[in-house]
Amino acid sequence: MRALVIDDDPAMLSIIASILNGLGYDVTKASNGQEGMEGLSSSDIPDVVLVDWNMPVLNGLEFVKLVRKKPKFDGLPIIMVTTELEMSQLALTFDAGVSEYIMKPFSPIMIQEKLQMVGVSVM
Ligand SMILES: [Mg+2]
Repeated sequence: MRALVIDDDPAMLSIIASILNGLGYDVTKASNGQEGMEGLSSSDIPDVVLVDWNMPVLNGLEFVKLVRKKPKFDGLPIIMVTTELEMSQLALTFDAGVSEYIMKPFSPIMIQEKLQMVGVSVM
């Protein structure tokens, strides 16, 4: 199984990647939405994408909108990693095509549950 994780915070990126490694995923990392798009386009399509909302260059919401415009990524589960401050705007993420969201701070078990909710397997 493969996951693409996109976050501009290197510490957060490492935390999410190590949780996913523990669940049996090979992880590709990107530090903003544009790098994420490049990662998606230059390799096999991953089983799931976890994307931060607040990022420079191309934020998570913009990233999701771009991905959902491309038929080759139809059905790709995208989980938005977000903070309480953005709760009021959560409807925006679902309108854009986000499959599920995870609130920071999160636990490994929460990530596991969200992966199962979007229909991707965990070890
Ligand atoms: Mg961020």
